[in-house]
Amino acid sequence: MRCVEVQGVGLAAVAERAVPERRPGWVLIDVLACGLCGTDRHILRGEYPSRMPLVLGHEFGGRVREADPGSRWHAGDLVSVDPNISCGACSHCTAGRVALCPERYALGVDIDGGLSEVVAVPESQLYAASGINPLHLAFVEPLACCLRGMDLSSLRGGESVAVIGGGVMGQLVVQLAALAGASRITLITRQESRRELAETLGATDTCSPDEADRDLSRTYDVVFECAGVLETVAQSLRLARRGGSVILLGIPPEGATLPISPFDLVVDELRVQGSVLNPLTQERAVAIVREGSLDLDALISRRLTLDEVGDVLASQPGAGDIKYVVEPAARPLAP
Ligand code: NAP
Repeated sequence: MRCVEVQGVGLAAVAERAVPERRPGWVLIDVLACGLCGTDRHILRGEYPSRMPLVLGHEFGGRVREADPGSRWHAGDLVSVDPNISCGACSHCTAGRVALCPERYALGVDIDGGLSEVVAVPESQLYAASGINPLHLAFVEPLACCLRGMDLSSLRGGESVAVIGGGVMGQLVVQLAALAGASRITLITRQESRRELAETLGATDTCSPDEADRDLSRTYDVVFECAGVLETVAQSLRLARRGGSVILLGIPPEGATLPISPFDLVVDELRVQGSVLNPLTQERAVAIVREGSLDLDALISRRLTLDEVGDVLASQPGAGDIKYVVEPAARPLAP
């Protein structure tokens, strides 16, 4: 089988490997769609801790190829994969905070992932995805992360919402905020094409970061930071109204720090809440994708073969591009 392997910092290439041997309790999956994510670029550049050599890809799903006899999964089942594997036994896991498990590891980061014609996955990580457009399997994991942020925001409908960052996370949060009944949704991002896209997806208005600072300070009930840049994190604190909430979804560089005014946090009663990964939200994400209430096709900038991934990861994303989706097993391998 063919896969995209990171062999060292800056070295991503298509490799030929034997189809993985299936262990008991694991399934083999023919991968139909795998999204590329900023984390894949960070791993390739050596900026994110990972094992090497490594098959990249943590936003994926496909068809079951082989499972244990007696398993609830059968060859041909369409499945979404939660790439984040937690221990299930620690105090965080038993309290439902599986993303905080100290033993957590991930497909496509710590063990081989979905940029491969076939991948081995623990059964516990699968979610039935029948009825879903296979290409949309690439969106389930990022959507599940956005759902975590939505849950933490406690939107009930009628709120004013700002979303900073017009990448895939920001465009998904815009759509989820619209579904949640927000009365105003402002997408703040630098690229005009992304602002125009957001206006077709549910944003009531859009602007550049400079315009937001000039006109919108202390305006919003809830601000979602979806860029992961220190200046946008700082801006998110300026945009929340007194008594408002800031949900930090973007991941700034580890160790980076920011001056904040604790006085303002206290006297304005700002709530600042981090949101990481997809703890127990993958199943809901599958249901939302199946229901078809999000426009995911509008977020697909390019469909790629495995052969194109190395060059795409080595260069910056094209202007205006939102999501690249790779189709590793477009032609299923012989059994
Ligand atoms: P992305 O495609 O890179 O989108 C982020 C966008 O933010 C940028 O492309 C950029 O678009 C915009 N932006 C606005 N102001 C900016 C500024 N001052 N400097 C730089 N960019 C600015 O990334 P994504 O996939 O949507 O992910 C967004 C963030 O969420 C990343 O940090 C990612 O690591 C993180 N993430 C978090 C989770 C989680 O569980 N918390 C899960 C997945 C991803 P413009 O060029 O239009 O400004």
